[in-house]
Parts: sequence; structure tokens; C-alpha cells
Amino acid sequence: MASTSSQSEALFQRAQQLMPGGVSSPVRAFRKVGGTPRYMARAEGPYLQDEDGNQYLDFCLAWGPNILGHAHPAVVEAVTKTARDGLAFGTTHRNEVALAELVLQGFPEADLVRFVVSGTEAVATAIRLARGVTGRALTLKFTGCYHGHVDSLLVKAGSGVVTQGLADSQGVPEGVAATTVVVPLNDEAAMTAAFEQYGSKLAAAIVEPLPANNGLLVQTTAWLQKLRELCTKHGTVLVFDEVINGFRFHFGGYGRLVGVTPDLTTLGKILGGGLPVAAVVGKKALLSQLAPLGGVYQAGTMAGNPVALSAGIATLNELKKPGVYEGLEKLGQHLEAGWRQRAKGLGLRRIGSLFWPYFEAGDPPVTAEAIRPEVIDRYHKAYGRWLDRGVYLPPSGYEVGFLSTTHSAAQVDQLLEVVFPEA
Ligand code: PMP
Repeated sequence: MASTSSQSEALFQRAQQLMPGGVSSPVRAFRKVGGTPRYMARAEGPYLQDEDGNQYLDFCLAWGPNILGHAHPAVVEAVTKTARDGLAFGTTHRNEVALAELVLQGFPEADLVRFVVSGTEAVATAIRLARGVTGRALTLKFTGCYHGHVDSLLVKAGSGVVTQGLADSQGVPEGVAATTVVVPLNDEAAMTAAFEQYGSKLAAAIVEPLPANNGLLVQTTAWLQKLRELCTKHGTVLVFDEVINGFRFHFGGYGRLVGVTPDLTTLGKILGGGLPVAAVVGKKALLSQLAPLGGVYQAGTMAGNPVALSAGIATLNELKKPGVYEGLEKLGQHLEAGWRQRAKGLGLRRIGSLFWPYFEAGDPPVTAEAIRPEVIDRYHKAYGRWLDRGVYLPPSGYEVGFLSTTHSAAQVDQLLEVVFPEA
């Protein structure tokens, strides 16, 4: 039965008069999938409920923070209790110490953590820090990796294999885009050539060690190790952007899972358990160059907000309980097995609780260049039907889906039945 959306439509009409595109972040406008974005009124566990009273099984989960599902009781309780004692102090407080200790347990190679508010800010801080420490200007990035809306990283590759960045957004000056060198993923030769050409000028190389913003483009460990080697050889700071991956597959980063150690790691999403918290972690030699100890400036009125940090503390404490990650992996395997049975060979990439459907036979691509827009279009065309049948996936076929600890195997089956009704 198709859902009704009259409240959402009315609200979206008003919103478009008030905010650019009616939204606070572009992908929420449903431009790719069409139709009216649903105005959500409440959420619990694996479910979202909209203003018209429709319920959805949610596989977008606020784009990743809600690994414990929506409104997890321990998180809500922590936030409520903290809020009663004050919403913001603008001073030091005990939650900073508690969350820093927890985060560093997950990143044993690091000594210090700086809390910020968004993933974008964490990346901006890491890049400035790398520049400050090395005295160099350039950054290496990989096509298809997203690192927030930092000016110098909103770039696309030019026509060659190793290119200086071209702005991907208006408002990014040419000179700023040109401080970024762009190479494709999964291409050791291009990466090596980039270091040969620019190595002595590269302050940082930044990568999502498991790229998950443009499909789920799983790279080989050998490729990541090569990047590590090149950074060490050229004195370039290696930044793993783990805003999506951090604490998702085990209590720590994807880097440690595959045995490759970065110099800096950026975190967000799960770290804040649904409230705005992000961070940069790394060795003392680097992090101590941040103000007030060092000359690299970074600050924030809302950084380390006590209420937001309390959500992070409660979330990480839940994730430390035995069996949590094993349960997520099992659920992921259930999804993958069901997909194989029903999808008639159509692709699915899955790591732990993260998945990316790619509606073409065979293995999904591992580089941005190999993604075929017409395949992504199949996702976009089917999206409205899934929504009408009560399944909420990310409203873009380039984005990954998420499972939470509150999803059951039966709910995963429900997703499969909606996506493959004829199977
Ligand atoms: N880095 C990565 C890997 C991300 O996935 C994102 C957000 N999707 C960001 C940075 C930016 O984070 P935020 O949206 O919190 O600014």
C-alpha cells in the first residue's frame, strides 16, 4: 500500500520558501530519487516515523551515527541526565576526559585527541596541522573519497592520471583547488608517480581507508601499505579519514583492522552517537602542535560540548560490550546471503554492517571511475517504490546503507522482500 505524504508535502512547500532547496544539507532534498523528502517526526530502534504517521525500516540511520539504532535508551538517558546539569559551559569538564580515554583505547597508536563538532572540521584541522608541522602546502587525495566540504578538498581530478585539483564547487578559488593533487584509487603506479612529482611538497595524503562515500570501494591492504610507505619515505603526514569507518567494525579504526597505521585519524558520526561530535587523533608529536601548545590554531565554541560528548560516551560504552560487533557481522552476513539468493547475480558490496547495492551483475567496482551512472540510476528509479513499501535507504545510489544493533534478521529479510519483490 502506498504511503501518504500530505504533511511532508506541506512542510516541504514551506521549507522551500525559507531555506535553500528547503534543506539543511543537499542530499536530503531527494533530488536524485525524486518525490518529496519525508519529514520525520520520531525514531526508535530501526524505525523512523514521518509526520503523516508512516513507519519506515531505516537503513540510512542518520548517515551512520546510529549504529545502536535510534534513541538507544542508554544514550538518551545519558544525554537527559547531562542536560539537566547544564547544556554548555564553555569550560573544561569531565566528559572530555572520559570520552578522550575511551577514544584512545580504540586508537592505541595515538596519544592525544582534539574534539570538534563536524567531520568537515576534523579534516580541516588535520590538514592545517599537517601543513603546520611539515611547512608544506599540498595535499594528496583520491578520486571518489569525500572528506567534508573543506575548500581544498572539494576538487575533482583533471584529465590526467595525476592532476592538480579542479574546483568541484563554485566559490573555491583556483589557487586553493590547485593545492590538492588528485589520483585514482587502486592505482599504485599513479600514486607512486604523484609522490615522485610532488612528494617534497606534500604536507598530507588523505584517504578513507575504506572509501564509503561514492559506493563502497574496497581497496587492497597492499595498496594501503604502499601509501603508508610512500608517506613515510617522503615525510608526508598520512591522514585516515575514518568519519564513517571509525568504531564501525570493531572498537577502533579500519586502519588497525587491516594493520596499516596512519599519522592522524579523523573521526565523527558514531563518535557522537547521534549528536555533533568529531575528532582528530594522533601522536603527541603532531597533536601537540595544536593551540594552545603549538602554533597551529584551531578552536570552537561548541567543541567538546558536554551533552554531545555524553552521547558519545554512552555509545562507545555500549559498543565495548561483548558480542556487539560479532552480532553486526552476523546480520551483515545474513543480508549478503539473502541478497545472493534473491538478486540473480546483481552486485552487493558488504563489510560488517555497511553495504552498497550495485544493480549490475558481477562484483561492484573498486574505483570511482568504474561506477556506471546508468547502474546508479536503477537505484534512483526504484527508490520511491521502496519508500512506499516502508523501507528507508539513503536517497542516493552512491551512498552506503547501514545496519544497527537493533535490526533483526527478519527486518533484513523485509528489506530484501521490498527490493526484490518478484524473487
Ligand atoms: N569525511 C568522511 C569520510 C565523511 O563520510 C563525511 C560525512 N559524510 C565527512 C568527512 C564530513 O563530515 P560532516 O558531514 O560531519 O562534516
